[in-house]
Amino acid sequence: MAQAQELTPEVLAELRERYRRERERRVRPDGTRQYLGADAEFGYYAADPYAAEAAGREPVRDRVDVAIVGGGFGGILAGARLRQQGIARVRVIEKGGDFGGTWYWNRYPGIHCDIEAHVYLPMLDETGYVPEWKYAPGEEIRRHAVRIGEKFDLCADALFSTAVTSLTWDDTDGSWIVGTDRHDEFRATYVITATGTLSELKLPGIPGIEAFRGHTFHTSRWDYAYTGGTPDGGLTGLADKRVGVVGTGATGVQVVPKLAEDAGHLYVFQRTPSSVDVRDNRRTTARDVGADRPGWARERRENFLRIVSGEATGEDLVADRWTASAGLLEKLLPSFRRTGDRAAFEAAYEVADAVKMNEIRARVDDVVTDPETADRLKPWYRYACKRPTFSDLYLQAFNRDNVTLVDTADTHGIERMTERGVVVGGTEYPLDCLVFATGFSVGVSGVHSGRLPVRGRGGVLLRDAWSAHGPRTLHGFTSNGFPNLIQLGGTQSASSVNYTHVLDEHAVHGAALVAAAEAKDALVEPSREAEDAWIAALAEHAPDHEWFHAECTPGYYNAEGRGRPNGPTAYPHGAVAFHELLARWRKESMDEILSPRHPARG
Ligand code: NDP
Repeated sequence: MAQAQELTPEVLAELRERYRRERERRVRPDGTRQYLGADAEFGYYAADPYAAEAAGREPVRDRVDVAIVGGGFGGILAGARLRQQGIARVRVIEKGGDFGGTWYWNRYPGIHCDIEAHVYLPMLDETGYVPEWKYAPGEEIRRHAVRIGEKFDLCADALFSTAVTSLTWDDTDGSWIVGTDRHDEFRATYVITATGTLSELKLPGIPGIEAFRGHTFHTSRWDYAYTGGTPDGGLTGLADKRVGVVGTGATGVQVVPKLAEDAGHLYVFQRTPSSVDVRDNRRTTARDVGADRPGWARERRENFLRIVSGEATGEDLVADRWTASAGLLEKLLPSFRRTGDRAAFEAAYEVADAVKMNEIRARVDDVVTDPETADRLKPWYRYACKRPTFSDLYLQAFNRDNVTLVDTADTHGIERMTERGVVVGGTEYPLDCLVFATGFSVGVSGVHSGRLPVRGRGGVLLRDAWSAHGPRTLHGFTSNGFPNLIQLGGTQSASSVNYTHVLDEHAVHGAALVAAAEAKDALVEPSREAEDAWIAALAEHAPDHEWFHAECTPGYYNAEGRGRPNGPTAYPHGAVAFHELLARWRKESMDEILSPRHPARG
């Protein structure tokens, strides 16, 4: 292990300066516009490689109690929690050919979840399932999503390979009219949206991208027909191929070792290195995780959430690199609170961060044998500027003779593409295949984005209502003028790195709203005053993330270096406090947003 460096004020100043220079090398004037969506001539990148040819079916024209938009974990959990509340007709509408959301689409070789399986997989108490590895492979997670769907009888009424294209409130009937791209038009008393945050793949707008004659695809639509193999590897189709991969984020770090094993030659085109910490995946027994007691999974995920939210807790049940780095992560979260002396806080934070990042950089030197390659793989930014990654295979892959690291930072990414390959720094790298591990657009899949027109009372579009006055919600779930519309995982709520936990809390809340409204034959709709009060509560303690993100290397966390977090306003006291607030509110105040469905009969 390399010698730990003493963090004198001079060393810290040098580090700050290095971070600034490295950031400058990467900030681009075109910001988020540097990316292309998978539409128009690039639409084929988003085609579903896993579903059987979508069979023709008659358009659906019936009525359900609840329509759920999205069949990822948010939608499935909403369905399950509705069932527990006794709601009969629940229909999930999902673009993919089955449940799973991100785990349906992402099946690239090496895919795992980097959050411990025993806290990431929801409803383990309810299904009796106990993962066998600390970090689960993607396929196990996808199957668990299907398991929940089956257990709560969500399959028969679901519409797969179907995208919702419009949601229109009909005031006279007191229901939503749901339109889809398969000409369905049915009614739902309630709509729950669970459309995800990183669900639309993006491509780099590299000049000449359309000219390349080799094979290309995005990691979220892996082409096993071309590569051969499975998510476990064995990509025999690449044995004699020159393969390139663009992107070294959380996905790239998982996919590179598998490509390295099987490609004739692998070129890794890197713009910004990830921080790559120890993974230490291992088999676990039910006893190791305490799965012999009822309620074990709930207790474990609560414990994890408390720790990564910076809340005090006696014991660290998960005890991994996430929980060990919780003090640095908290900076990312809305629960980051500046109480006391800000200068002292920032100074202490800077030292803790430098210790961690020095450890990450020292690991590169320890693992990678070629010093020049090792230098290029070192991340020069603060830990929480980018999603931390974990791998015991990624850095090691660069010791192989068939792997070449190509640094693209000086040209702000790949310079251009030709018919034959990729050009960086004037050198052309001829390729047979180029894999885009270039991530996803943020904030385009929600109902406020305008992609999915949502018309509330008087035909008002949610997008217009929000662009005129900013997002307006109560707790992030409901909005005045949009009765019986419940948004999960949205703005003005609270999030965390263990996103399935957050979604489950939201699902419980959404299902409780529906059950309460059904019991009283009421509509769910907050008053404008309730929205005002919530927005004021958010603003009052809003944390100042800007100084932190402004200094960060570009990425989707800070709108590609614009200095602002990409996430809109969030509950400032963190996910633990938010969940407690919701539970209290359900007990004491839920009636406040229920209004008579039939005032005339009233
Ligand atoms: P990211 O957005 O994190 O990474 C995209 C990568 O593409 C970056 O390395 C980026 O470089 C690179 N890139 C983009 N354009 C160019 C270009 N023109 N030239 C060269 N490089 C380019 O996407 P990921 O799919 O890796 O991850 C997205 C998110 O998905 C993660 O942050 C995480 O939230 C989630 N995820 C979670 C996993 C889990 O285990 N829970 C696993 C995988 C993903 P640069 O950094 O310089 O912009």
